[in-house]
Amino acid sequence: MSETTLEKHAFQAEIQQLLDLVVHSLYTDKEIFLRELISNASDAMEKLRHLQATSQDVHEPSAPLEIHITTDEEGKTLTLSDRGIGMTREELVENLGTIAHSGTKAFLKSAEEQGVAPAQLIGQFGVGFYSAFMVADRVDVHARSWQPDGAALKWSSDGKTGYEIEESDNAERGVKIVMSLKEAHAEFAQEYRIKSLIERYSNFVGFPIFLNGKRINEVEALWLKNKADVTDEQYKAFYQFAFHAYDEPTYRLHFSVDAPLSIHALLFAPRENPEQRGFGKCEPGISLYCKKILIDSQPKGLLPDWMRFMKGVVDSADIPLNISRETMQDSALVKKIGSIIGKRVIKMLEKEAQADPEKYRAFYQKFERFIKEGVATDYPNRDALARLLRFESSLTENGAVCGLVDVAARLRDGQESIYYLVGGSREQIESSPYLEAFKARGLEVIYFIDAVDEYVVDSLGEFDGKKLVSIRHAGLDLDDAAAEGDALSAEQTGELCSFLQTEFGDRVTSVAGGKRLVDSPIIALVPSDGLSPQMRQMMRAMDENFKDEVKVEIEINPRHPLIQKLATAKDENPDLARMISGQLLDNALIAAGLLDDARETVKRMNALMEKMMP
Ligand code: ADP
Ligand code: MG
Repeated sequence: MSETTLEKHAFQAEIQQLLDLVVHSLYTDKEIFLRELISNASDAMEKLRHLQATSQDVHEPSAPLEIHITTDEEGKTLTLSDRGIGMTREELVENLGTIAHSGTKAFLKSAEEQGVAPAQLIGQFGVGFYSAFMVADRVDVHARSWQPDGAALKWSSDGKTGYEIEESDNAERGVKIVMSLKEAHAEFAQEYRIKSLIERYSNFVGFPIFLNGKRINEVEALWLKNKADVTDEQYKAFYQFAFHAYDEPTYRLHFSVDAPLSIHALLFAPRENPEQRGFGKCEPGISLYCKKILIDSQPKGLLPDWMRFMKGVVDSADIPLNISRETMQDSALVKKIGSIIGKRVIKMLEKEAQADPEKYRAFYQKFERFIKEGVATDYPNRDALARLLRFESSLTENGAVCGLVDVAARLRDGQESIYYLVGGSREQIESSPYLEAFKARGLEVIYFIDAVDEYVVDSLGEFDGKKLVSIRHAGLDLDDAAAEGDALSAEQTGELCSFLQTEFGDRVTSVAGGKRLVDSPIIALVPSDGLSPQMRQMMRAMDENFKDEVKVEIEINPRHPLIQKLATAKDENPDLARMISGQLLDNALIAAGLLDDARETVKRMNALMEKMMP
């Protein structure tokens, strides 16, 4: 090796930041570095296997796909080598000197916000290769690319400011990493220590791992095994290894089908929502294999988008190995697989929800947005997904939830609609005048209080053949049950209505005496194709000039004292009656979320108060 081939490079600023974090602020779990390096080796050999399977010419085609680890206690070094795709000079610079990963960026951002990165976060993103510098103060990476004309190179760094690249005398295809361990971490040069780590973290790597010449791991594609032959412990270890997870999965689904396609699938619902901490949309977490050969670790378009939180492996012998990312999206075969998996996942969740509602509730609290996204976007699975929704209703106790299946089962004979109201909270909904008529009749009303619910219920439209109907809407056909007590006569009511109609002018479509109300004097009903208060608020937030002239139907309560007094006042004290009417309309519009400008209301209110003073 001549001196002239030595190239010095500085780390990209973000790498520097990452290295500082990894080396200095993470005291626990330093041992995960080994898992990271082994999974990189395994990834590199998966890629090689794929190249070979798609008949690319590779350098040293018959080199066995194995990982070899050697320890040198005296020299305090640990060496890992694989026969994967290796790296070219450009790839060394690109992969080990710059951050391209959005996940790593999110990790840095979150670590910054939280002051320190909890170990959980490493699991979530994998800080990858750089974790080697937690335990080593010098790392040499010998690399020889799979490409026939590749060069043998050595990348070296102390993990501080930069790295060097020079020629290497190791010309074997793949990567060999030599770590000079820090004094404090010399334990990782001990064979028994490394052995226990491999057994703990890397038992399911799909390639043989040798430690100082002895075979350590069982090579198992767990998803191809029979369910009965896999223990809970094995599932958990597989989940944690394959997905870099520290938690235990909440649910798992392991199944095989032969017809119409051959599919082996092992899927997990994680414990934590990867998008919950304000990280952007996560990548799909289900890898696609063909007979144990990885086709794509994040296949876009395999599963419906909302299922991206699920992690797992789908293996189908029917998929052509050389399918490209582009053609995968249009492949009827891939669509078919996705559809089968999607249905199974939903069925599994429904079963689990029935078997243990409390557990499902905890899961739902973290993952409901994915399910709701599914209802709104995954048309073929919409009805099945709707069964997974949970919410409170006028018949559930405060804090308890139920599903659409429960509500449908409680419908009265002949009831053709499922009623709901969208609002900010249970309290807000329960104090709304809209609920009165339904409460009085014992009719169940679903409380939708999540910001996206309205959108979800709109796209759902109906459930089990029953229309989903907002109780804010006009035109609901209710029976007479609640219309009791002293009331204005039909004639008096009619006269008052026409007085009010003149007062309200074209702000309303009609004024009528109704039987909906019990405790409130007046209610404004909106057309069923109109915007909801939540939607209007959003439109207004986006566009300050947004105008939406809603005409409401007014119902008055002929049994309410205020309405009865108003009927008299309109003849005896018309000025006061006019002011009261205006105020009543505003009150109804406030309850309907439709009063945009309260200036007139306040003025009138002041005038009314003045009148009341002696
Ligand atoms: P990640 O594995 O999440 O991509 P890493 O920091 O672990 O991130 O590795 C960065 C990149 O370096 C990998 O994506 C890969 O391209 C390359 N790399 C790391 N180890 C190897 C290896 N043993 N063989 C080939 N390429 C590797
Ligand atoms: Mg990695």
